[in-house]
Amino acid sequence: MNDTLIAKTMQVPEFPNLIHYAIPFFISTVILEVILTVRVKMKTYEYKDALTSISMGLGNVAIGLISKVMVLSVFYFFYTTFHLLKIPFAWWAWIAVLFAEDFIYYWFHRISHENRFFWASHVVHHSSKKYNLSTALRQTWTGSFTSFIFWIPLVIIGFHPVMILVQMSISLIYQYWIHTELITKLPRWFEAVFNTPSHHRVHHATNPQYLDRNHAGIFIIWDKLFRTFEPEVEQPVYGLVKNIETYNPIKIAFLEWFYMCKDAFTSKTSFVNKLNYFMKPPGWKHDGTGILSSDMRKKWEREKSEKRKVKSEK
Ligand SMILES: [Zn+2]
Ligand SMILES: [Zn+2]
Repeated sequence: MNDTLIAKTMQVPEFPNLIHYAIPFFISTVILEVILTVRVKMKTYEYKDALTSISMGLGNVAIGLISKVMVLSVFYFFYTTFHLLKIPFAWWAWIAVLFAEDFIYYWFHRISHENRFFWASHVVHHSSKKYNLSTALRQTWTGSFTSFIFWIPLVIIGFHPVMILVQMSISLIYQYWIHTELITKLPRWFEAVFNTPSHHRVHHATNPQYLDRNHAGIFIIWDKLFRTFEPEVEQPVYGLVKNIETYNPIKIAFLEWFYMCKDAFTSKTSFVNKLNYFMKPPGWKHDGTGILSSDMRKKWEREKSEKRKVKSEK
C-alpha cells in the first residue's frame, strides 16, 4: 500500500465505518418490528431464529475489522499500480459510483447464486425460513475474503478505494430495510426503479418461479435489463430448497463449505468434475442426478403453459 503517494496526488476525505454507526439503528428497528409484528399478529418472528441472525451479523462485523484492512490493501495495490482515470471525490463521482457499484453488486450477487464457490458464503443470508429485519443481519463470515474481487474493475476504472468501500456500505444499509413483510407494496414509480421489500421477498423465496430472481442491490433496473426480474404474485415460502435446520451460527457459516469440499474430494470422478463442484451451480452432481434452480423453474414454466393450454381447450 502506498498511502503517501496517494495522499500527494489526491485529498482523501475521512469516512467513518458507516456499518458501525448503523448498528444502534439496526437493533432499535428490529425491536420496533417485533412490537409491530406482535400487534398485527403476524408469525414473522421466531425468537431463536432472530437471535441466530443477530449473532451472524455481529460475527460479520467483527470479521469485517480484519477483512476490510485486507480488501483496502488489495484495492490500494491495484489503484497505485494502474487506474484508467483519476476520479475525484466530487458530487458527480458519487452519483457515478452509486450506479457503477450497484451494477457490480448485481453481478456479484447473481454469480453468488449461480456458482457454488460463492454460494458457499452467500447461502448464510438465505438460511432463515423467516423474513424480517433480523434476516438482513444474517450475514456471511467468509464472503468478505473472496467477494471483493468483483469490485476490482471499479478500482481499475479509477474510483478511489475509499469511495468504493463507502458506497458498498451504503448499499448494504439500503438493503437492510427491505427485509420486512410489514411493507406490502410501495408506489408504482418506486417499485419500478428501486429494490423494495416486495422484490426482495421474491429473492428470499423458494417457490420455483422465484428461485434465482431479483438479485438487485439498490436499483431493480439490472434484473429487468438482464432478465432475472420476477414480480411478487404468489405468497413467498422463505428459506432454502433444502433447509439447513440449525440455529448454530458456526454450522451455518461453514456447512456449505464442508459439503462442497466433501463432494469435490470424496466423489469418485475425474479431476474436471471434482473442480466442477466449485464452479457449477449449487445442486449440480457429476453423475447428472443433481437438480438445479433453473431445472425447477423450467418445470414450473412447463406446467404453467400446459395448464394454460388445457384452459384454452375447454
Ligand atoms: Zn441472495
Ligand atoms: Zn436479503
